Amino acid sequence: MSIGYPPGMSYSKEREVAVRAVEQASRLCQKVQANLVADHALSKKDKSPVTVADFGAQAVVTHVLSGSFPDVPLVGEEDAAELREAENSPLTDQVVANVREIVPDLDRDTVLDLIDRGTYAGGATGRHWTLDPIDGTKGFLRLEQYAVALALIENGEVVLGVLGCPNLPIDASAPEGERGCLFVAVKGEGAFVRLRGRDDEFRVSVTDVQDTARASFCESVESAHSSQDDSAKVAKRLGIVAPPYRIDSQCKYAAVGRGDASIYLRLPTRKGYEEKIWDHAAGSMVIQEAGGRVTDVRGKDLDFSLGRTLRDNLGVIVTNGHVHDRVVAAVREVLGE
Ligand code: AMP
Ligand code: MG
Repeated sequence: MSIGYPPGMSYSKEREVAVRAVEQASRLCQKVQANLVADHALSKKDKSPVTVADFGAQAVVTHVLSGSFPDVPLVGEEDAAELREAENSPLTDQVVANVREIVPDLDRDTVLDLIDRGTYAGGATGRHWTLDPIDGTKGFLRLEQYAVALALIENGEVVLGVLGCPNLPIDASAPEGERGCLFVAVKGEGAFVRLRGRDDEFRVSVTDVQDTARASFCESVESAHSSQDDSAKVAKRLGIVAPPYRIDSQCKYAAVGRGDASIYLRLPTRKGYEEKIWDHAAGSMVIQEAGGRVTDVRGKDLDFSLGRTLRDNLGVIVTNGHVHDRVVAAVREVLGE
């Protein structure tokens, strides 16, 4: 990690607003998570905290974005249909109360309308945002890693990505040390990290590992999201000896982007699953600008122009670039693709 400053030439307003939106949503998520810790009576199996934080974070982000970019639509993971049902009124109360801790003046209807700004269909023309208000909900509930992921897509291509990682250790080699990182990347301008409590930015870059035997790889904690059996076979073929670095959410992209690992494997667990654009847009921008590469398991670029999902892609492979072709070849052999 070396000190550097973003030139801030293009997309400077979009960048500034997107960072602010993710910071504010991250604060909401941290507050909800802190209450989760405090409330011993609440079983971790109870999904309501993550639901409150998911909806609340989406409301905060759309509030900030619509203040500066009222006409740019958003592909968001959530919508307010459930919250509008009478039986969910107590849940809605909690969402509104949490949002008001961040943005005090919003009324209930406004909060619901803000959440519903995420229903855009996406596509190949014009510009739109895409948001995962809490990526890695399982990690959030385990009090481990999660991310607030926001990206701007222009004519089907990602041009700006922001990843809020409130629980990510600032220094990967000191996992018990200070936490809280926010990654931001604009196409052509590099990838940067901001550390909690500081206003400056540091440039991040991928490892320069060339020999796959010296690489380590990230994958999902959840074996339902990525085949851990197949990744073990891939690792064996590549001579990787380090154990898999299992971490929830797009923090995996952040980990490769700042050089904690050289590879991130997301290998299909079942036929027919379509990856969601909000699960990959921000992370892939960070990787590209940190000097790495992102493709699917067949070596194809991710296609963000097809709507809400990456329906023409299968799985995801992220690397530092140097080892990419070899990793794709090993994955293809293992999957028989
Ligand atoms: P991770 O934290 O990397 O395990 O990924 C979390 C994301 O996995 C969630 O945001 C879901 O959108 C996504 N997901 C859910 N089911 C699957 C699946 N079968 N394959 C891949 N990703 C999935
Ligand atoms: Mg997600």
